[in-house]
Amino acid sequence: METADVVVIGGAVTGASVAWHLKAARRFWGRVVVLERDPAYAKASTALAASGIRHQFSNETNIRISQYGTDFIREFRGPDCEGLSFRENGYLILAGDEAGAAALRRNHALQRACGADVALLAPPEIAARFPHLNVEGLALGSLGLSGEGWFDNMALLRGLRVGSQAAGAEWRRDEAVGVKMAGDRVAAVRLASGAEIACGHVVNAAGTRAALVAGWAGIDLAVEPRKRTVFHFTCQTPPAGRLPLMIDASRLWCRPEGEGFIAGIGPDPDPAVDHDDFEPRYAEFEETVWPLLAARSPAFEAIRLTGVWAGHYAWNTLDQNAVIGLHDACANLIFANGFSGHGLQQAPAVGRGIAELIMDGGYRTLDLSALGIMRMEGGAPNAEAGIY
Ligand SMILES: Cc1cc2nc3c(=O)[nH]c(=O)nc-3n(C[C@H](O)[C@H](O)[C@H](O)COP(=O)(O)OP(=O)(O)OC[C@H]3O[C@@H](n4cnc5c(N)ncnc54)[C@H](O)[C@@H]3O)c2cc1C
Repeated sequence: METADVVVIGGAVTGASVAWHLKAARRFWGRVVVLERDPAYAKASTALAASGIRHQFSNETNIRISQYGTDFIREFRGPDCEGLSFRENGYLILAGDEAGAAALRRNHALQRACGADVALLAPPEIAARFPHLNVEGLALGSLGLSGEGWFDNMALLRGLRVGSQAAGAEWRRDEAVGVKMAGDRVAAVRLASGAEIACGHVVNAAGTRAALVAGWAGIDLAVEPRKRTVFHFTCQTPPAGRLPLMIDASRLWCRPEGEGFIAGIGPDPDPAVDHDDFEPRYAEFEETVWPLLAARSPAFEAIRLTGVWAGHYAWNTLDQNAVIGLHDACANLIFANGFSGHGLQQAPAVGRGIAELIMDGGYRTLDLSALGIMRMEGGAPNAEAGIY
């Protein structure tokens, strides 16, 4: 039977980052095989994301993960990658009441203590910086001054994949369909093609399908697909200036994209959906997105819808944060799942951390244990105060 030291299930941004950190960054001696069922990435969250990165989290681990992400995104070059087109325009997070403002202030203190370049803005300061915004009803804003923005998601994925291949990782178009267990270890991964690969470690980087992979090892993983619809529009009179990714008090988000903008909002209700259901929820635009946009800016009153798509979050139902590392029930299946709405920016630090788990037996640079999978068993959430 074929053998590999590491089999990575899922070759989108998380799996690619694991392979890149193992082979290109750390020169791992062993054989690494990345399995990807759809190299076109038609349904991968990675390809359907808004591609933002922020330091404005309420959880220190997430802040530090994104700080490494920013350094990585700024500097990344590869055999097939000249850079990631990082638009460092910041996130502007708005609070509409005193409770929201208090959360922003608390988060700000932690972010500053971690060295994040963020500023709190009173409503008149928001209006001075972004004159198109209607600040009525706002209590406070928080703006990333550097290190935050958005970047080319597919350039990152391609760069990691090609870079890892150049360093010896083997990429294969195939689907993992099960595992063979030997006691508390995965002995081999079974493939749709009929092949089996005996393995040292397995990395679950299967995105919204992560719970299926976990189930093969007898582990229940509370991660499910949740649909997010993204709307692209142009404005009759576009607002000028260097505009950030805005997260309104309503949780509507909006950022510049090309000649226009993209925007979306988490729906309510927000049920789990079928893995293959990518039908956009068109009605959200008229019912929620457009009215909220128009209320926040007169520039968003006269707009034309120019595109729409739907993607899936891999939604961690416990706390909407990443689930990383080994589970007590299986000695060699490493999880990198449940990123909900922020896995693209976390891929560099998570890939590095998993490479350390495999090569060093523990985290060496940034301790990711606060995001360990065993918290899912104890039901002890590690949730963000605010945004997913
Ligand atoms: C609308 C939207 C907006 C977003 N905006 C942002 C954002 O602004 N910033 C941010 O950081 N994140 C954002 N995200 C989240 C981010 O896209 C994801 O967290 C991240 O891309 C997850 O990457 P992944 O590689 O873990 O999973 P995925 O990209 O879902 O990839 C999983 C891969 O595994 C493959 N696979 C699954 N099962 C198997 C199997 N059995 N065998 C072989 N291959 C398999 C799949 O084909 C897929 O390619 C957004 C997501 C969406 C949907």
